[in-house]
Amino acid sequence: MADSEALAPGVWPGGSRVAVSLTFDVDAEAGFLGDGAHYARRLTAVSEGRYGVTRGLPRVLAMLAGHDVRATFFVPGYTAELHPDAVAAIVAAGHEIGHHGHMHLRNDLASADEQRAEIERGLAALAAAGAPRPAGYRSPAWELTPETFSLLLEHGFEYDSSCMGDDRPYLESWNGNTIIELPVHWSLDDWPRFGWSIDHGGNVADPAELFHSWHAEFCAARDEERLVVYTMHPEVIGRAYRLAQLEKLIDMMADSGDVWFATLGQVARHVAPTLLGMAR
Ligand code: ZN
Repeated sequence: MADSEALAPGVWPGGSRVAVSLTFDVDAEAGFLGDGAHYARRLTAVSEGRYGVTRGLPRVLAMLAGHDVRATFFVPGYTAELHPDAVAAIVAAGHEIGHHGHMHLRNDLASADEQRAEIERGLAALAAAGAPRPAGYRSPAWELTPETFSLLLEHGFEYDSSCMGDDRPYLESWNGNTIIELPVHWSLDDWPRFGWSIDHGGNVADPAELFHSWHAEFCAARDEERLVVYTMHPEVIGRAYRLAQLEKLIDMMADSGDVWFATLGQVARHVAPTLLGMAR
């Protein structure tokens, strides 16, 4: 990726110096059940996923409403099938719904046929739950493959948010084809901080670390006049003492007076003329 193919600074609406996208992956039960058939009888693990919808999501939606901020929610098809009311609540609040597979299968571990089924079943389930057709895609576990990359183009997705090749919007490419990439990073994800399982261990970090690191990245992005994408999971950030840190961060960002809180779809539409013009 040549540097000229990433977005130049100073391009945000209303004179804003920094664009901030809050994104939530509503993995819920699929986050466990898609990881292995053995989870079907592990009721405790699956209940932790369910908490993301029963407690985490309403808490997140209430907090965002209180700050008049719109976000992007990547919803697996299976989550939409189990919890159509959750999809309706997200849409009714004016947020964006993105595609996040169906059973949350890792694409790098799935066959080509399974990857196609993940895309097509996910689209059908979101539509059945009343969601608008998603413009964006985020690969489960951020594992994008050549097969799924091609499926995104085949199905007309406007952007992907799974890759890490820049910290500005850029064009991700494979085999001569490109898609607008709104990049992510593990350091801007709640899971590496708080994700813990009986099988793999993990962390239960001081929640203040999330605030300090993410605020530092916000300040850097503001200095560089670029986008920053934060990735969260309602079952993780939706614990009250953690969400309090996110709310504190939103308050400080808003106080800066020059932040554009935008869904990834809004960002993609804003950067498309510039990025796609560069590609010609
Ligand atoms: Zn996920």
